[in-house]
Amino acid sequence: MPNLLDYSYPQLQQWVEEQGWKPFRARQIWQWIWRKGCDNFSRMSDLNKRIRTRLQESFRLEHPELREIRHSEDGTIKFLLRVGGDDLIETVLIPEEDHYTQCLSSQVGCPLGCTFCSTGRMGFTRNLSSGEILGQVLAARGYLARSEAPLPLRNLVFMGMGEPLLNWPQVRKALQVIRDQQGLDFSYRRTTLSTVGVPGPLRRFAHSGQGSLAVSLHAPNQELRARLMPKAASLVSLPQLIRILEELPLRPRQRITLEYALIGGVNDDLKHAGQLNKIISSLRCKVNLIAFNPDQELPYRAPSMERVLQFEEFLRKKDKSVFLRKSKGLDIEAACGQLRNKALSKGP
Ligand code: SF4
Repeated sequence: MPNLLDYSYPQLQQWVEEQGWKPFRARQIWQWIWRKGCDNFSRMSDLNKRIRTRLQESFRLEHPELREIRHSEDGTIKFLLRVGGDDLIETVLIPEEDHYTQCLSSQVGCPLGCTFCSTGRMGFTRNLSSGEILGQVLAARGYLARSEAPLPLRNLVFMGMGEPLLNWPQVRKALQVIRDQQGLDFSYRRTTLSTVGVPGPLRRFAHSGQGSLAVSLHAPNQELRARLMPKAASLVSLPQLIRILEELPLRPRQRITLEYALIGGVNDDLKHAGQLNKIISSLRCKVNLIAFNPDQELPYRAPSMERVLQFEEFLRKKDKSVFLRKSKGLDIEAACGQLRNKALSKGP
């Protein structure tokens, strides 16, 4: 039996039409699912019993199951969710000044295996369906409502487990519900997709206007990128990636975000800052620097604060728009993949 969370609005409209019901029924059901976060057909009180019974006979309405919630001292909230029976995924709520940003997973594990990433270490199990991606938002929104949290959820970033552009058909379908005013209703400015750069889907996403783009560079030259992110670097070389980014359509004040994790002794000296400045000089972009958050399972260390500040200062002096991002939720293993790895090593 299909999960109704996996249906697009046109699919639901067609199904409603096949039942011989009035078209407005599709809108009613859609709003119960996405605006009200309802997970039980019997609670859809403005639908008559015959319609509710038919829905029950035809669909599941399955939200992810909350397996564990962790709260960090800095306000970060991490959820471990079970989807599709046995698969565990993570999603994180990051507190900002006046809202939460939610970090979404798009795959169970990740096939790219970047050498500095906990998710990469766990390998790849499968792609998430659009309903499983969107279910993460419903789970977090429901939790915030129940706990009367002080901040609203306003921003979404595809920056959790997995490479979203390797699951583009399901991510695209999820983005349509995210943007739909009768659906989850997030504007494109409040939705960001972070990718290592998968050329075909990258162009399709940029042309779709469905959200802002963040690109994980993490290295200023192809050789170092191939060491840190071997599979990502083999999908497209760094010079080719920059050329693709140069040609993407941007709205008037839109900029591409470039993510660069500073790893101690690996990519954090001024030589690297100089190379980075050079390769991005043709892009309308801003640079997010983030100090690597060490994990005992990974062979890297954090950069010194002195190196981080020098790197930032160098780019700033070259008139780059640069931001130093803080790692949040360090006390609850909020980096992507850490909590799931721990849960798996403990067993169910
Ligand atoms: S950094 Fe992103 S693309 Fe690389 S292994 Fe981790 S989740 Fe996958």
